[in-house]
Amino acid sequence: MSKISESEKIFDAAIVGLGPAGATLARLLAERGLSVLAVDRKKSDPAAGGFQKPCGGLLAEDAQRSLSRQGLALPKSVLADPQLFSVRTIDLKTTRERTYRRFYINMNRHRFDLWLKSLIPGNATVFHEATVRRFFRNADGIFEITLYAGGEEKTFFSRTLIGADGASSMVRRKLFPAYKIRNYTAVQQWFSDTQTCPLYACFFDERLTDCYGWAVSKDGDLVFGAAFPREESSRAYEIFRDRARRFGFSLKNPVRTEACCVLRPEKMSDFVLGDGNGAFLIGEAAGMISPSSLEGMSYALDSAEILAKVLSGAGTLSPESFSELAAKYCTGTRKLRLKLLTKILKNPFMYNPTLRDLVMRSGIAAEK
Ligand SMILES: Cc1cc2nc3c(=O)[nH]c(=O)nc-3n(C[C@H](O)[C@H](O)[C@H](O)COP(=O)(O)OP(=O)(O)OC[C@H]3O[C@@H](n4cnc5c(N)ncnc54)[C@H](O)[C@@H]3O)c2cc1C
Repeated sequence: MSKISESEKIFDAAIVGLGPAGATLARLLAERGLSVLAVDRKKSDPAAGGFQKPCGGLLAEDAQRSLSRQGLALPKSVLADPQLFSVRTIDLKTTRERTYRRFYINMNRHRFDLWLKSLIPGNATVFHEATVRRFFRNADGIFEITLYAGGEEKTFFSRTLIGADGASSMVRRKLFPAYKIRNYTAVQQWFSDTQTCPLYACFFDERLTDCYGWAVSKDGDLVFGAAFPREESSRAYEIFRDRARRFGFSLKNPVRTEACCVLRPEKMSDFVLGDGNGAFLIGEAAGMISPSSLEGMSYALDSAEILAKVLSGAGTLSPESFSELAAKYCTGTRKLRLKLLTKILKNPFMYNPTLRDLVMRSGIAAEK
């Protein structure tokens, strides 16, 4: 067991992962005077390779509302060209098509993440391009966190630990080894595309997946992806892509291929908020993502904002206060979790082939 020397700083909060959830929490806590350690493994320069979050990069109205509530306005540099106002919905099996009105902001997801990270105030200690390898709670109840940065391992100490490390969260896996949540593999490719009219499209094909596929125009490229139950996702993706080609998409010569895990909660108990003992989970690490649309950024932003309020309002952060803080975070996120429950209930209307066909055939809410 290691002993903390007097000279070692003990942070109030150590945040693992700086996607939308972690970057928001780091910013809000540091602004409110808490000492923050924040670690993110993303490479800043996409050309340098490394992991980049595969994402449609569409900012839904709820996420726009979260940014507005936090007093943030999107810089132009984050936007992708063009902005799209409708979604072309195609059932690859029945070949039925509909167009629905939608109000997303089309962004470059990587630039969005870097922008959110750039807003973290200078009083936070931030490690970019660094990975948290392990952590444990020592006999004093303090988290010892070991990260790998700049070619070496370093250890830091913190009173609380926040897992903001996304769908495959190592914090969640360590805290709850037996926890299981339905998860899919999302495969996405970027095509240099000058032929397809700018579009946002959704594809369904129940023969390959009970989730969906998407295509989004972005700065001269077409991003085409789909999410599949885990086994044989590469092969399923190829068939899915070939079937989409029949609808006029060329989808030839990809310039980039990405894949990652994506969660699809099915019940309230799929959302895990922490261990009640100083460790918390936010964003997709907590299972918060819509299982119907896979929209996750609003839940990341909102859960971070709620936890920031709970932790910054706590006075001293000590083991005696942790169960009360956990209860407050649980109460604070109740509305968010209920909203996710409504998305779970909406699932059959999107993913049950018969119901979906009825809805599409009826033309309810469709533009054409
Ligand atoms: C293919 C796809 C398309 C999607 N499209 C959309 C969309 O258009 N709109 C939308 O709202 N949502 C979309 N989502 C969902 C959305 O991307 C996520 O819900 C959202 O990114 C969750 O944010 P987060 O901050 O919780 O986690 P993440 O964005 O996953 O961020 C986690 C961060 O933690 C870092 N990290 C992980 N492990 C470690 C570690 N050990 N040490 C240090 N850092 C670590 C990662 O590098 C990453 O930066 C999509 C998801 C997928 C898979």
